[in-house]
Amino acid sequence: MIEKLNTQFIIQSEPILRIGIILPLDHRKIIELSFSDSLQYKIDSKAPINLTPRKLKISVDDGDVKIIKTNPEFDEHGITIHNVPAGRGFHWQKAIDVTLPGSVELSNHDGYLLLTNVVPLEQYLACVAVSEMSGACPPALLESQTITARSWVLAAAEKKHSDLNLDACNDDCCQRYQGLRQITDASIKAADDSRGIALLYDNQICDARYSKSCGGISEDAEHVWDMSPTPYLTSVYDGPDSENKIDWDNWFTDNPNVFCGPNFANENELHKYLGNVDKEGHYFRWHLDFTQSEFCKFFSENIDEDVSRITKIDALNRGKSGRINHLYLDYQNKEGTPKTLQINNEYDIRRILHPSFLYSSAFIINMDEKHIEFFGAGWGHGVGLCQIGALGMSLHGYTTEQILTHYFKNSQLKKLY
Ligand SMILES: [Zn+2]
Ligand SMILES: [Zn+2]
Repeated sequence: MIEKLNTQFIIQSEPILRIGIILPLDHRKIIELSFSDSLQYKIDSKAPINLTPRKLKISVDDGDVKIIKTNPEFDEHGITIHNVPAGRGFHWQKAIDVTLPGSVELSNHDGYLLLTNVVPLEQYLACVAVSEMSGACPPALLESQTITARSWVLAAAEKKHSDLNLDACNDDCCQRYQGLRQITDASIKAADDSRGIALLYDNQICDARYSKSCGGISEDAEHVWDMSPTPYLTSVYDGPDSENKIDWDNWFTDNPNVFCGPNFANENELHKYLGNVDKEGHYFRWHLDFTQSEFCKFFSENIDEDVSRITKIDALNRGKSGRINHLYLDYQNKEGTPKTLQINNEYDIRRILHPSFLYSSAFIINMDEKHIEFFGAGWGHGVGLCQIGALGMSLHGYTTEQILTHYFKNSQLKKLY
């Protein structure tokens, strides 16, 4: 597990990561695994487990089990884990089969299994790049994505799963990691060509964040999360021209000349590059129209109260990208009693105002007695690298360094190993 780095970066060789694939909160007592070549592995366990069959079932009663890859080559062979959760905790959660490089460890946590993938950082990154974007992307985009992901892991600032001795989990909660399945020669080359390179600010590795689309202006980190202002996670105008005066009245329906907009990244072609997206559609500028009763149905479920009508929705505070982080609502419950609700962060705004999850909290609202209409911009929290913008830049000849220093102002690239 990577320790948090302080004033000096101490990484001089490729770290080995511990990535949680199935977590105790998934409540699994049995996990099924299969092998394309079981001869490449040896097993370390107290329970008598025979590795020769192509399929194995490991139960929570088997105690600690390690399945160790003896061949250090990074090739197409891996351990396939069946029914791995993707989109954990969201309405779109599904189960997928994931083929993992490296070794696997299973252990019992309060009666449920934890499955950890023990994997060299560079092999993990080659898989992350194509879990986030498709292998068809231009090399500068894959490299930018890989360096961003590498920096995020090495900075180890978030540590969401340190109680389980993990560097990260396999899901959007940390970084999406779906193993070898979509790996391509291009993604392996992107990891190789940028091997050991990370983003640094003031001699520390950057906690480099990214999201799908900023919507034209990226957001300040401290507007979205409870953190102090960070010099390399500040808002940038995501276009080739320096920021002109922004016309906020028309921003959400306008087509500004920005890297994540249609002038640089054609939305009809995004499916070629975005890989495993949850949904297809318009992310740069989006429009949703709910009837009052449709809205009240999911809103009631999301706040766990019977709501019959929304009377007012007000943005109390917006960041530089237009993202709202304080929102105020007036509504009536089933008895007709007027009530109010204030939502105080970007994540909850997106969770509460949509049946699954709103693309972003950058929106304006048009509402009347019958309808509630959203005009929005961007997809995700909007901090740091804008993936669709970085794609737009790479399709128009910008280099990896130009892309990364555009989004992470004041940062530098440095090869650590
Ligand atoms: Zn996580
Ligand atoms: Zn953008």
